[in-house]
Amino acid sequence: MKAYITFSSNSRIENDEKLKSFIQNSEGDFTTILLDENVCVVIKPLKKASYEQVRNIAGSIARDLRKRKIETALLEGAVLESGLSELNKGEAARAFIEGWELGSYQFLTYKSDAKASKTELEWVGCEDIQSFIVEGKIRAQAVSLSRDLMNEIPSKLNPETYPDVLSSAFKDTAAKVTVYRKAQLEAMEMNGVLEVCKGSKYEPAFVEISYCGDDTKPLVALVGKGVTFDTGGISLKSGRDISDMKMDMGGSAAVAGAMKLIVESKAKVNVVALIPIVENMPDRDSLIPSEVIRYKNGLNVQVGNTDAEGRLILADGLIRAGELKAKYIVDIATLTGAIGNALGSKLAGVFGNEDLSDVMKKIGAENGDHVWPMPLVDAYDSYLKSDYADFNNISAKGEAGSITAGLFLRRFVPKTAQWLHIDMAAVAQSSGDSGYYTKAATGFGARLLADFTKKISE
Ligand SMILES: [Zn+2]
Repeated sequence: MKAYITFSSNSRIENDEKLKSFIQNSEGDFTTILLDENVCVVIKPLKKASYEQVRNIAGSIARDLRKRKIETALLEGAVLESGLSELNKGEAARAFIEGWELGSYQFLTYKSDAKASKTELEWVGCEDIQSFIVEGKIRAQAVSLSRDLMNEIPSKLNPETYPDVLSSAFKDTAAKVTVYRKAQLEAMEMNGVLEVCKGSKYEPAFVEISYCGDDTKPLVALVGKGVTFDTGGISLKSGRDISDMKMDMGGSAAVAGAMKLIVESKAKVNVVALIPIVENMPDRDSLIPSEVIRYKNGLNVQVGNTDAEGRLILADGLIRAGELKAKYIVDIATLTGAIGNALGSKLAGVFGNEDLSDVMKKIGAENGDHVWPMPLVDAYDSYLKSDYADFNNISAKGEAGSITAGLFLRRFVPKTAQWLHIDMAAVAQSSGDSGYYTKAATGFGARLLADFTKKISE
């Protein structure tokens, strides 16, 4: 069966008082009705229409029609244009398809009784905005890659298999994937990665994905935390169900998605993704609290708590970014629970260079990956002091946990680079189906990092 998407400003509806009031009084942003024996999705008037609103409505419609087992939904360019007259037609179409595809997203690998299905969106009279439609699909595919990686279980996605998954994701593209395994990591002195993974049955890895669409552009390094499962290590986590900790590689998923978006859209940027990959497990060989990790840059870190492992591996990524002479560095991680206390589950925190933080905040407000600037309070730096090493991986005080994590990372940032740190711990998951989000992984960060990289490369 086919459905037709229209707006309540449609003359057929406008001229029918009964129908008009029925639609006005129905709940939600759209109503599905039978009109002249056709299934019609009627989008209600939007107050101050935004592209994010368009993405959300499209995602909700896609899921609603799938439930109704509708095979195709038809959308006419002229209908979209008049229904969303205050928005740019091409950009509205891009937002619509992006929201549609993401709202249709499913992860059913382990649901024995479910079969993937989707209502296809068919565009009519949209020849003039084809490039926007293609772009919207590319954006959705990139975010879906991030979601797939985050939703996968740790026996399938772990430090030994993850590099292969990334290699195949970028096979036959303009990006180059380099995988460093344990012996190479030892030669490269990636001691944070090596130490954190000591308790795991898997050997650690470090993946670099590089893409150069224009070699006159400054090198941007995107560093993503790839902890494929975080038990806390010897500082074992408690909790009724810590399944979510399979998503502790959310930062690396964001980086991978961003690279996908950049590569597929042939962006004129020069970028490298740096992804340290470990599993944090308790074992007789595990890293234990009180140990000291000596980093390649000469810094010695006391491990006060093995559950603060993200910063220990990101440190290697930041050092590596310096070796590659990156001009801009953005690291992203599901780093601290504290960021959710500060900002809730709709915004990630961004730390570091204040001008760049503002640029990123604006980008996120437009593309849906919202961030809010957070301070790196110098007075809290002393909380990281250690009695016998240069500093500790956890704060001596039970306050400002996200800020002290940022301050820890700042010590590893090469002096020649401008740096941002994103803490996405609270935005990695959606608690339910809502707009273009489906329950579980959000795919946060893919669009944010890609759009930011493009912006600073202009
Ligand atoms: Zn941890």
